[in-house]
Amino acid sequence: MEIEIATIGGYEEVGRQMTAVRAGDDVVIFDMGLNLSQVLIHDNVETEKMHSLDLIDMGAIPDDRVMSDLEGDVKAIVPTHGHLDHIGAISKLAHRYDAPVVATPFTIELVKQQVQGENKFNVENDLVKMSAGETMSIGDSGKVDLEFVHVTHSIIDAINPVLHTPEGAVVYGLDKRMDHSPVLQDPIDMDRFREIGREGNGVLAYIEDCTNAGRKGRTPSESVARRHLEDVMHSVEDYDGGIVATTFSSHISRVSSLVEFANDIGRQPVLLGRSMEKYSGTAERLNFVDFPDDLGMYGHRKSVDRTFKRIMKEGKENFLPIVTGHQGEPRAMLTRMGRGETPYELDQGDKVIFSARVIPEPTNEGQRYQSEKLLKMQGARIYDDIHVSGHLREEGHYAMLDALQPKHVIPAHQDLKGFAPYVDLCESMGYKLGRDVHVTRNGNMIQLVE
Ligand SMILES: [Zn+2]
Repeated sequence: MEIEIATIGGYEEVGRQMTAVRAGDDVVIFDMGLNLSQVLIHDNVETEKMHSLDLIDMGAIPDDRVMSDLEGDVKAIVPTHGHLDHIGAISKLAHRYDAPVVATPFTIELVKQQVQGENKFNVENDLVKMSAGETMSIGDSGKVDLEFVHVTHSIIDAINPVLHTPEGAVVYGLDKRMDHSPVLQDPIDMDRFREIGREGNGVLAYIEDCTNAGRKGRTPSESVARRHLEDVMHSVEDYDGGIVATTFSSHISRVSSLVEFANDIGRQPVLLGRSMEKYSGTAERLNFVDFPDDLGMYGHRKSVDRTFKRIMKEGKENFLPIVTGHQGEPRAMLTRMGRGETPYELDQGDKVIFSARVIPEPTNEGQRYQSEKLLKMQGARIYDDIHVSGHLREEGHYAMLDALQPKHVIPAHQDLKGFAPYVDLCESMGYKLGRDVHVTRNGNMIQLVE
């Protein structure tokens, strides 16, 4: 059976991920992401109203015109998890394919919300839920199957999809950390990866996220970030002024740790900001997390301001607002607090806890610098970097290659510079660039079996 891989997006950047795998006549697309930094750099861009071709020209979504060179029918569109760089272009591109979107329940719910918010296109693809550990048949040959393997990442319900073909498995390995003691859900399913590496014809190809490939050692577990956060929160237990926390809204494990520790130190947690309400509300509704019944979540400007007024009236020392704005996004809640645009008044010595790291990218770095500066000018004291990455470091990459023993490796989720340390790592395991390590760019085809 012919096996061909189209590397469509996310091979020159982090963002706008999209890869298609053709097995005979059947094609499966993995991820359809948005490169948010290409959008945010322009003022007041509303992607909901924009046409795909304009967004492709901006470098914001994958240029999927290369799909016409792939001789087969798309049978499924498979986003691996709910981060925007993996699902953010579904509302712009999915309607061009007569295929369902297949993803885990939490991811499907986020896709549904995104499609509903789309103004330009009518996306009517079926949305099909499939959980980790499950398999579905692809196409009519009876020879190709899609399996979801549970992985751990900075968002719940993440998987690595595996396309089983007669030539071996193609494992799409984007976005995971090897977490054996996560805060929510199960540890990564390494047993299954090891089985896949040894059953049938083994693994034909492994497409891997190179984000932290240049960092030594292993990425700490989410339980390490949780202990760090617990330590910080208890250290300010006796402070009788304002404490404000921020983290990734989609990072449900972290939000739930913040909620728990707020209660531990006698403060009422409250989630504020549009995306805080969206992600946490969705996770709670789908029973992924068990928040206290009285946990307030407010997204709309008016209800947020009303909550801030209540906090000021009842005493800041009784609350922990958990807000958006960890990257200093200009319109996020914490940034507005820094600019003094909300009823919440910061006083000398108040604490601001960033349970996040700045995404190393000049736009974020600049915005975060500005946000922190504004907060400090009002007297706030900053706690930062209470965080662990969601991506594998060196030892995780070694462990994955060892488990899967792939014949071919395709580095992804980085630019050329970011691929280099992963190529070195592969070569130290006996692979060779150009022979079985395929460094590529957006818009290329790699034919693995002719
Ligand atoms: Zn991710």
